[in-house]
Amino acid sequence: MSLTLTVDGPRWRAHLERVADDHPGLVPVAKGNGYGFGLARLARKAQWLVDRGHDVPALAVGTYEELPDVATRWHGDLLVLTPWRPWVALPDPAIGKRLIHTVSRLDDLKALLHADPTARIVLERMTSMRRHGMAARELWEAGELLRKHPGARVEGLALHLPLAAGGHYGEVTQLITDAVGADLPALSTVWVSHLTDAELARLGTEYADFTIRPRIGTALWLGDRDALTVSATVLDVHEIARGEHYGYRGRSAPKDGHLLVVSGGTAHGIGLEAPTGDHSLKARAATIARGGLDAAGLVRSPYSIDGKQRLFAEPPHMQASMLFLPGGAHVPAVGDEIEVRVRYTATAFDRVVLTD
Ligand SMILES: *Cc1c(COP(=O)(O)O)cnc(C)c1O
Repeated sequence: MSLTLTVDGPRWRAHLERVADDHPGLVPVAKGNGYGFGLARLARKAQWLVDRGHDVPALAVGTYEELPDVATRWHGDLLVLTPWRPWVALPDPAIGKRLIHTVSRLDDLKALLHADPTARIVLERMTSMRRHGMAARELWEAGELLRKHPGARVEGLALHLPLAAGGHYGEVTQLITDAVGADLPALSTVWVSHLTDAELARLGTEYADFTIRPRIGTALWLGDRDALTVSATVLDVHEIARGEHYGYRGRSAPKDGHLLVVSGGTAHGIGLEAPTGDHSLKARAATIARGGLDAAGLVRSPYSIDGKQRLFAEPPHMQASMLFLPGGAHVPAVGDEIEVRVRYTATAFDRVVLTD
């Protein structure tokens, strides 16, 4: 009776192993809602990859707050992607030894070395993303500072690139060259995000004396969409005649048909409008001309019945949504499962079911 993510286990695991095989030094990213699967499950799966003999040296989380969710399920090193700031308390020493901090400002480097002179550190370099990172000059100063703290461990350079596929190779090599010029102690590893496979391969050959660690989330966990199905349960079905009122807003039915109450609402991240669809003015004008239901103010939902995306009868509720099914359509029964299209990274599923 819920919003369910069903995972074809063998297919999903085969995909995870393929990605790990193709990306030696893979650093799986487990953050946020765990890409729909949950952080704990991703941590266990990352550990499973190691147990299967894959080269997975670290697991990355987004924030310090996420560490407890993964630290007992994954046994290797842990990288926090959000740069450390002086107000972030250093975690439990049990985690501490496995923890690699991302540091993106000189002041933070000073404060962290003061708080923990043996900290393990990845220095983040500013990229064309313009999110976090040090300029070339700051890296140089960081190098000076780190040479005075021989207890600290430089675990590498971090580069977070924009999503646009391809075209970042020149930028990456320039940034690595800068870092080499900054003479950082023991710099031998580069942690990269969002490089194409071809760029990673080229980097691996041209910078053979560096260890490349690709940080991958989406393409790993969500890279084989055919392994994933999202479904909602039909919780109730009511016949309704044109003009009859329904819902929180006392709206009147635009036609004869059925109201369907289905699981999934705002608490799950079900939004008012479907994530895909033609919202162009031309398309809207065409529906209005046809006297279509969305001309009556009904909005397309992400729920499909018989392969057709259906309309919300009104905006989604907290845990359920009301759909309007016009007369003539096949009416599902209470208890039936219907398909839903969601953004995995923005959806809180009630259940994740892995098939064997
Ligand atoms: C989220 C994140 C990633 C992973 O991104 P995907 O697009 O999910 O692969 C990699 N690097 C950094 C710094 C991130 O914040």
